[in-house]
Amino acid sequence: MSVKDTEKAYYAYVKKMMNFNEAIALAEWDMRTGAPKKGIRQRSEVVVTLADEGFRRSTSRTMKSYIETLTDPSVQDELSEVTRRMVEKSKKTYEHRVTIPAEEYKAFIMLQSEAQSVWEEAKAKSDFSLLRPYLEKMVALKRAFIGYWGIDKNKYDALLDLYEPGMTVETLDHVFAALRKGIIPLVQAVASSGAKPKGDFLSVRIPAEKQRAFCLYLLREIGYDFEAGRLDETEHPFETALNPGDVRVTTNYRENDFITAVLGTIHEGGHAIYEQNISRELVGTPLCAGTSMGIHESQSLFFENFVGRSRGFWERHYGELRKLANGQLDAVSLDDFYRAINKSHPSLIRIYADELTYPLHIMVRYDIEKALFDGDLEVKDLPGVWNEKMKEYLGMIPASDREGVLQDIHWPAGDFGYFPSYALGYVYAAQFRAAMLRDIPNFEDRLRSDGLDSITSWLSRHIHQYGSLKKPLELLKNATGEGPNPIYLLNYLKEKYSAIYRLKA
Ligand code: ZN
Repeated sequence: MSVKDTEKAYYAYVKKMMNFNEAIALAEWDMRTGAPKKGIRQRSEVVVTLADEGFRRSTSRTMKSYIETLTDPSVQDELSEVTRRMVEKSKKTYEHRVTIPAEEYKAFIMLQSEAQSVWEEAKAKSDFSLLRPYLEKMVALKRAFIGYWGIDKNKYDALLDLYEPGMTVETLDHVFAALRKGIIPLVQAVASSGAKPKGDFLSVRIPAEKQRAFCLYLLREIGYDFEAGRLDETEHPFETALNPGDVRVTTNYRENDFITAVLGTIHEGGHAIYEQNISRELVGTPLCAGTSMGIHESQSLFFENFVGRSRGFWERHYGELRKLANGQLDAVSLDDFYRAINKSHPSLIRIYADELTYPLHIMVRYDIEKALFDGDLEVKDLPGVWNEKMKEYLGMIPASDREGVLQDIHWPAGDFGYFPSYALGYVYAAQFRAAMLRDIPNFEDRLRSDGLDSITSWLSRHIHQYGSLKKPLELLKNATGEGPNPIYLLNYLKEKYSAIYRLKA
């Protein structure tokens, strides 16, 4: 077979895998958005069947031979950038999977689903000892996997790389230390400020159907394409991308807390706009998806924070919200509203954290994960270390493990190395914003008057269109001229919170 023929056969083989993935994603979306309960068991089996088939193809002898042929140095000039990058991804997946003994891989998958249900119970009872044996096995397996991948130094880097290709402890240590140095004094200044925003009016009652109408309106305003998506309601909001022509979002309406649905919808909308704008040429390849968790989060946070929590945006849309609130917000000035949605107050729970304190929650988890894989921390010590770190970074200690080490699903789900992406996404987002301001200096005016077209098209041009064709750090460098640099986020936070809390310079 000629190289061109191999390339063609490889594309067809991979396309089939992508089609399986789309079917899985659709089945999962359906299960999460209201599939009849009595059909769930059978449906789960369908998902497992499809996932097994995808796994089998990704590690098959056929795949191996495609990889061997298409990574041969002598044929590289004949291949397009898309093909080279696709094969690189296939190779990484292949090697990750075949080096792990099948029995151990299976054990890990089993453990993941067991640990998640045990976690629910442990959290409800606030009893870490229930979860502990599961986490111990899970960490032991993860450590073994890293060994199978041939890594014996900087082991945590291998886990970071799963979510944020190319990211290392060396880089993160710098980024996080700088963030801490800037954020902690700011949090303290905010806490001792006498100018606290009012916020009681955020609990006015707005019926769910009115909130939904407003969320639909806002999604349209930020550039979400309803011919390529839809909005549904779920307990936990999420976004799922089937292909760029079908990217769905969900949100959750609480009648006495409309701002959660509003900002949550904008957040998921940011994820979705990324996927909707991926170049159609990448459909059917593994490159047709956001390039990393961090870059993905940068897009959702960009929309949620820099758009959805900005003054300019609300100058444009506050009137519409007031109409919806049926007179209840008429006495609330735009300024009071803006300050209320940007209120900062340290919390014990990550998902309720505000813009300013959020990165500190991530650092608690980062330090712990790093010590689990590169240091000598053991699972039994997690609750104690958690509380120490919370005290150190946020100045508070949880009264129970439910509000502490047991609050997140990530570790029971086996997702070690995932957390840093959240904070990195934030750093990236601020960096993109700073680069965008050089091209669109009247950013706030645009939000206020002509809407988001120029902003979304900037993001699309520099980020969205590439899908996973560019790696995260390459994308960041191309768009902003440098690697991860926390200074932009710090400047943004300083400027914003100094104004809101009337801090003296
Ligand atoms: Zn997100």
